[in-house]
Amino acid sequence: MEFRQRVDEVKQEALEACQGAPDSQALEQVRVKYLGKKGSLTGLLRGLGQLDPEERPNAGKLVNEAKAEVESAIKHRQQELAVMEQQRQLEAETIDISLPGRPRPQGTMHPVTIVLNEIKRIFVGMGYSVAEGPEVETDYYNFEALNIPKDHPARDMQDTFFFNDNLLLRSQTSPVQIRTMEVQKPPVRIIAPGKVYRSDSDVTHSPMFHQVEGLLVDDHVTFADLKGTLQYFAEQMFGSHTKTRFRSSYFPFTEPSAEVDVSCIMCSGQGCRICSFTGWLEILGSGMVDPRVLRMVGYDPDEVSGFAFGMGVERIAMLKYGINDIRLLFDNDVRFLRQFEGQGGCC
Ligand SMILES: [Zn+2]
Repeated sequence: MEFRQRVDEVKQEALEACQGAPDSQALEQVRVKYLGKKGSLTGLLRGLGQLDPEERPNAGKLVNEAKAEVESAIKHRQQELAVMEQQRQLEAETIDISLPGRPRPQGTMHPVTIVLNEIKRIFVGMGYSVAEGPEVETDYYNFEALNIPKDHPARDMQDTFFFNDNLLLRSQTSPVQIRTMEVQKPPVRIIAPGKVYRSDSDVTHSPMFHQVEGLLVDDHVTFADLKGTLQYFAEQMFGSHTKTRFRSSYFPFTEPSAEVDVSCIMCSGQGCRICSFTGWLEILGSGMVDPRVLRMVGYDPDEVSGFAFGMGVERIAMLKYGINDIRLLFDNDVRFLRQFEGQGGCC
């Protein structure tokens, strides 16, 4: 009787442990604990030898029945756990397609690109096409053809990067105008945007910067056309209330020449620190194309006339966004660039 109780106790304990096993690993431990070589039920079988011979068959039967019951419970629990574990795995690996995507940091348009695109948009809207040319130029295109012969004092106006006597990094985009006129008969109506290089570096000068130059050559082009074009540009770029002022100046490429100011975009002409309390900001150089330049490219100055203008893109960007150091534009500090998020359309 005592033995039967013992078997029952061990069996009950095993069945409960089996049911309580939280995963297949724990269940395996239960199996080893009761049915393994050193397991409790196996131990009971070994202990049969100590019983009276007549009790042994019955007792052996009891233990074997108990073992069978525990084995079957383990099997049953194994199946249950397999289903549960699969379920858990499925839940863990489920992809919720309704979840929002992970946000990726998005790049922003560079302020120089924004302004460059805006300038292009305005002039393309007036029927200009965009022309491009090489950044490594010859002395002829960068100087000679633009009415700046060797030893001309105007060469001192720019500190040019020379590779040798003939090759240089262009110091202006005007060579593109010459290249265009050489292969195209009037009418010509282009803007030439691009990088230019000068040996100059401080808060308002960078050794590389962007210029946009414009050229229009046709019959009867007058200074009034130039004024009207640049007035329209200033209104489009800085707002319809913007005024322009033309001041007589000198450029080798044009005659007569004028520097163009716009009414200060910070103080609307009232006078502030940005405009040095003058109410005006200088943004452009311009003039009527010198007849000598027209002749150089094979045009007849008695038949056609033209105007040209040029502006620094960084300067306009600095004025438009109130940037006081040109180097900020080229440091590529993301904190600076992020401020222009959402600005600037497509080119
Ligand atoms: Zn001002």
